Order: sequence, then C-alpha cells, then structure tokens
Amino acid sequence: MEQTLITGSLLHDLLRCDHRVALDLHSESWGIGKAELNDHPLWTGPLHVHEHIIQGLIAENPGSVDLRPVEAGSRQARTLLAMDARAPVIVGGEIAADDLLGQPILLLQEDDGYVPGEVSRNGTVAVEPGPFEGVTLALHCDILERNDLLAWPGGYVVGEQTIRRVDLHSTIAGDGTTLLDGYEDALENVRDIIDDVVVTRSAQAPECWMCHWRGLCGPDVERRDDLTQLETVDRATRDSLVGTFPTVASLAAAEIEGFVRGTATDFLGISAERLREVHGLAVRFVESNPRIVGGRDALQRMPQGP
Ligand code: SF4
Repeated sequence: MEQTLITGSLLHDLLRCDHRVALDLHSESWGIGKAELNDHPLWTGPLHVHEHIIQGLIAENPGSVDLRPVEAGSRQARTLLAMDARAPVIVGGEIAADDLLGQPILLLQEDDGYVPGEVSRNGTVAVEPGPFEGVTLALHCDILERNDLLAWPGGYVVGEQTIRRVDLHSTIAGDGTTLLDGYEDALENVRDIIDDVVVTRSAQAPECWMCHWRGLCGPDVERRDDLTQLETVDRATRDSLVGTFPTVASLAAAEIEGFVRGTATDFLGISAERLREVHGLAVRFVESNPRIVGGRDALQRMPQGP
C-alpha cells in the first residue's frame, strides 16, 4: 500500500477537524465511499496573493532561486542543489524525510543551514504565530533537522513591512505548551489516524460549512445526538465529556454534581462552572427537541459520578 506522507496541508486539515482527515484517508475502506471533493476555497486557504513580498525578497538577496516553475518530480533534487549552492532564499522548494513531506514557501539561509519562512496570508505579521503557521514551520524545521540542514529551531513569518522571528520553543499557552509541543501532538494524532487506530467523530462546528463531508456529518451528528449540537460546545469539550456522556440526552439526564470537585470536575479542562453551564444547555436542548426523548421526564437517570 502506498505510504501516506504527512504534509503541511494534512496537518492543517487536522487542526480544523480530525474526523475530516480520517474520512479523507479511510472512507473507502470503511465502506462510505469518496466525498465529492468540493471544498470552499477558505478550507484550502487562499494562494499567496502577496507575490510582491516574495519578489522583494528575491530582489534583495542576489543568488536566490524560485523553484515554483520547476517540474514537480525534480523539485526536491533542485532544492538540495540550491541548498548546496547556499542560495540565500529558496522559494517554492520541496524537502522530505521519512514519512514527512514539506513544501516551504521560503527557505532562508543562515549560518551553516536553513530555516523555513512563511509569507503572512494577510500581509500583516501578528505578535504570536497562529497554530497553522506554527505547525507548518515546525514540520519544515523537523524535515531540515532530519537532513542535518537546520540552522536553528524556528523560522520567520514575512509580512508586508515586517519579518518576525519565530522560536519553536516559545510558549503558546499558559501551561507552558510550546509551538513544538503543538506540532508533536499534531504529528502523533495524524499518525494514529493514518494507522486507523483512533476513533474520530463527526461534529457540528463552524468549519463544517466549508467541508466536503458536511452532507455525511450533519445527519450523523443528529443520529448520534452528539454534544456539539449544543451551542458553545466545541470538539475539545465534547471529547472530554463523551466517554461519560455520549449524547445530549445522557448529559441532560445526569446528576452532574457527582462529578464536581470544588471548582474542578472529573473532566479534563472543564471547570465546575462550565460543566453546570453545559448541563443547563443540554437540559434546554432536550426540552426543546422532543424528537430526542419525547420529553425530559421520559429520560432514564444517567451516570451520577464515581
Ligand atoms: S463536515 Fe465537519 S465534522 Fe465532518 S469532516 Fe467536515 S469539518 Fe469534520
């Protein structure tokens, strides 16, 4: 069987929805068939509309190369040649190592090696890199490192007037999580999905309207009475609760105080206040959707905590 290579776009899809990655990779072996590939352009992301930023970099750095017009089959070899020649900026290169494949829009020569660069999609450079920029830079650093070509663990985001240095060890969350941690988590998740050893679930989420699987997932969410039907309940909240409350009806019927421990709960990342809030949403949802249970009184009492 052909190996599935992990690319930046696969990781971007994962950040948007793990179930999408699973369906794209396994729908046929699961007997679902292929989706009609008809994504909204926002899912795939706009092409680089800031070509002048790239052209400016090339002009300012003599000896730079633009490999975008090169035939796809020879782009990796041409990228290695350009790096051997110490081209200061390589545009549209291709790098690979093990099961990783990268197509960095920029490779920038520094010291004895290279670091990747991203061109900001909207021309401005935020103080903190977004998750998509972070995971892309980390993937390209990982590949460079495996080829012993990485100058330092990070890269640059280039904007209209600015260029920002991004260190992969910088923290992106209050708990000390770094960009590198985020990348490693994503890599582990995507490998589990490729190996089909993890369960993913459909959801009702803002990105569904752009996705080619929405015709399948919408009815599935209703059929499973998924928790993401509740306003403000995202995938992370659902995934934390789903082992105990697989449906809205089961959550609505539960005595949730049995799961509360002071201001915390038994559920990862969910405070007591948030659990009570979500429970209230579930109760109101059941009361206003008779299709689920035929009324709240008909509910069998569900888990009451350990
Ligand atoms: S429709 Fe929504 S839940 Fe289904 S795969 Fe797409 S983004 Fe994921």
